[in-house]
Amino acid sequence: MISVQQALHIIDTTLVAHHIKEVNIAKSLGYILAEDISAPINMPSFRQSAMDGYAIIWSEDSYYKITEESKAGEAKQITLQPLEAVRIFTGAKVPETADTVVMQEHVVRDGNTISITKMPRQGANVRPIGEQVHAGELVLKKGTRLNEAAIGFLAGLGISTIAIYKSPKVSVLVTGNELQQHGKPLKEGAIYESNSVMLRMALHRFGIKKVKTFTAKDTLKATKKAIKKALDYGDFLLISGGISVGDYDFVKEALDLNHVDELFYKINQKPGKPLWFGKKDQQFVFALPGNPASALTCFYVYVLPLLKKYAAYPDYHLPRAQAKLHSEFKNTTGKTLFLKAYCKNGSVSVLPSQQSSMLNTFATSNVLVTIPEDVTYLEPQEQVTCIQLDGYGN
Ligand code: AMP
Ligand code: MG
Repeated sequence: MISVQQALHIIDTTLVAHHIKEVNIAKSLGYILAEDISAPINMPSFRQSAMDGYAIIWSEDSYYKITEESKAGEAKQITLQPLEAVRIFTGAKVPETADTVVMQEHVVRDGNTISITKMPRQGANVRPIGEQVHAGELVLKKGTRLNEAAIGFLAGLGISTIAIYKSPKVSVLVTGNELQQHGKPLKEGAIYESNSVMLRMALHRFGIKKVKTFTAKDTLKATKKAIKKALDYGDFLLISGGISVGDYDFVKEALDLNHVDELFYKINQKPGKPLWFGKKDQQFVFALPGNPASALTCFYVYVLPLLKKYAAYPDYHLPRAQAKLHSEFKNTTGKTLFLKAYCKNGSVSVLPSQQSSMLNTFATSNVLVTIPEDVTYLEPQEQVTCIQLDGYGN
């Protein structure tokens, strides 16, 4: 059995090869950019008005004669003389000779003349060519996470295809004779299978859509065969159940028969002690305990970071924050605990139903409080580390 630190160290030091693909920007949300992007054009590419108003050649005079109109999208060549004004709108081309746009709120119009009530500084409200970026300038670096702002920015530059780091395809294999699919009343002794959809949703939240589910009964033959099929599909394989030491737990043996090499097995933690992690060539396998809260905890703490590493995320662990414990807490287990908890305004309350089979309070948790194995007692108001569950993914 290894400690949580040792297990995380193995995750951190596991080398993961990256894969690059070209995608349309509309398919790139949440991915990491795999190339430096230089601006192909100036932005803006012509002198643009930042306001609805009147373009003029700046002078001390207040009265100007309106000669023309410049609307957004027009490419009209307008030459303006001193003391002339062009009616202009936001985003429209500023006439060559004009140097200032007076906002319409600072103008009184009388027929074809305007009187300026508040003269702006010379050059006001004119966006110069390349104000935001110049053509050829490095504008987004390789390694940038693509959010909606980055995608909008790329679109504005006229870029429609970019290189991103691929996210993995994932196989989810659920094992257990007791598992029943939805659609029929529950049979005596059976339970509704819930880990596959839960894991699939956790993967979706992170943006992984290529997920295939496999099932296996609790026999060595079925488990071995299902692992083989699942390995044919995914870059990652997440197995649920069958990794404990019961007489009907065949996952470890079946992984061995499929030549998956063990990197660790069993962590001094609660929940999720029997977590198994291994590798076959460039494929990664996690065998998660079947208990739903254990499976999900292991997913957040160990699986998700490796998935994010695969997709080249520079920060691949879920964010940790400090918070003050609302009530005292005793740890008599000698294990590292990951506790379902709710944190608000820096104060964190450990929720009831901590058992690894229970998802009822996991459903309303927004953090996992981590209590190290050597900490036996925490007073109210003591600082604890919280793994933040909200705000990851897309
Ligand atoms: P195991 O790790 O196979 O010993 O399973 C531990 C517990 O988790 C048992 O109570 C199982 O019935 C339950 N369990 C296993 N797989 C699933 C699943 N896919 N969905 C819901 N519960 C499960
Ligand atoms: Mg089982």
